[in-house]
Amino acid sequence: MVRSEPENFMAEGYCVKCKAKKEIVDGVEEIMKNGRKAIKGKCPTCGTVMFKILGGKAATPPTPPVAS
Ligand SMILES: [Zn+2]
Repeated sequence: MVRSEPENFMAEGYCVKCKAKKEIVDGVEEIMKNGRKAIKGKCPTCGTVMFKILGGKAATPPTPPVAS
């Protein structure tokens, strides 16, 4: 397993459209406001946006929200 691709996360998520587990393509890691990590990507079959919340805490401090 290659683990040196920070831009491309292979993760499984549930596609509500296919009603099945799918591999998330074009997945990017995001840190939510509560400091949790999530992966946002697309379903390889139908292209529906998938969002997978990762259980653990973020390894890095959460990014502060953009002040408007
Ligand atoms: Zn799908």
